[in-house]
Amino acid sequence: MGRILYATHERFLEHDAGAWHPERAERLEVVRHALSHFEDAVTIVTPTPAPRAAIEAVHTPAHVEALERYCLMGGGPIDPDTSVNDASFEAAQLAAGAGLDAIERLRQGEADAAFLAVRPPGHHATVDQAMGFCLLNNVAIAAQALIDQGERVLILDIDAHHGNGTAAIFEREPRVLYVSTHQYPLFPGTGRIGDVGDGPGVGTTINLPLPPQTSGQTARALLETIALPAITTFGPTWAIVSAGYDAHRDDPLTELDFRAPDYAPLIAIARDAVPPGRLILALEGGYDLEALEHSTLVTFATLLHAAVDVGEAPSRDVDHELVTTLQRLHRAALERGLANERG
Ligand SMILES: [Zn+2]
Repeated sequence: MGRILYATHERFLEHDAGAWHPERAERLEVVRHALSHFEDAVTIVTPTPAPRAAIEAVHTPAHVEALERYCLMGGGPIDPDTSVNDASFEAAQLAAGAGLDAIERLRQGEADAAFLAVRPPGHHATVDQAMGFCLLNNVAIAAQALIDQGERVLILDIDAHHGNGTAAIFEREPRVLYVSTHQYPLFPGTGRIGDVGDGPGVGTTINLPLPPQTSGQTARALLETIALPAITTFGPTWAIVSAGYDAHRDDPLTELDFRAPDYAPLIAIARDAVPPGRLILALEGGYDLEALEHSTLVTFATLLHAAVDVGEAPSRDVDHELVTTLQRLHRAALERGLANERG
């Protein structure tokens, strides 16, 4: 059994996305409860805020300044989905800082993997826009820091929504391989199979759009068939998981059919893609509390190479027709993209 760093901070509980908002502080309490099953294998760490320079390596200074000012004035709605309060900017700085802190601690050999139990989430945040409950792109800020240190980064985004922010930030970046499974169509509407990256980044974006009701086992088959060969060729030195759990069948916001045990093989893909001590998971979505608790429990077990019974069976059916179709469409898009690049 290995060791997990678990990053948490009381400020994450004080960010308030609004009354009745599904992205609420109780989410972190159930994740913490899941962690209690592996208490002996866990080091709890408290992050420091990300330095402004690290944030602005991804986001425009104007976006960061406007967000900070708006929060410090008391906050309010940014768009119909996304609201902030006076604690939100500091929470977002700490959520981004948790990734940078984890990089340093993992480099010092403190653990095999880090789980960032953060709020607000990040993968929808673009260079200059907060959206979809996300303010700063936590995963992108960590990935940018890593490539600036000479690393090659796999980002595996298993949230039920496409990480449009992360995808756009790295669409032309050949040192980041962005792989996403997501329901399609669904908010934010991006993540088509034909989007394989742009310019020097052609081939380092893999979008696997899933029709409603797609099972977790089908997602696994898609990742193994389409993404895994690309991951092996890419040769990541670090892996970051956008760990959203809203693809669970009980999630109120989506219509996918993942079960908690389905997360084990998905997490294992990232775990096994890099050497021990080079894996970071950052919490994104997941809005049914019991599903979130079970799914994160399976995640922690997978990180520790342990087994756990959450009283739920894996989904069984693999939609082989979908796998074959997406494989064909992805290959065609990749060939088109590479041909365009060669001009
Ligand atoms: Zn989501």
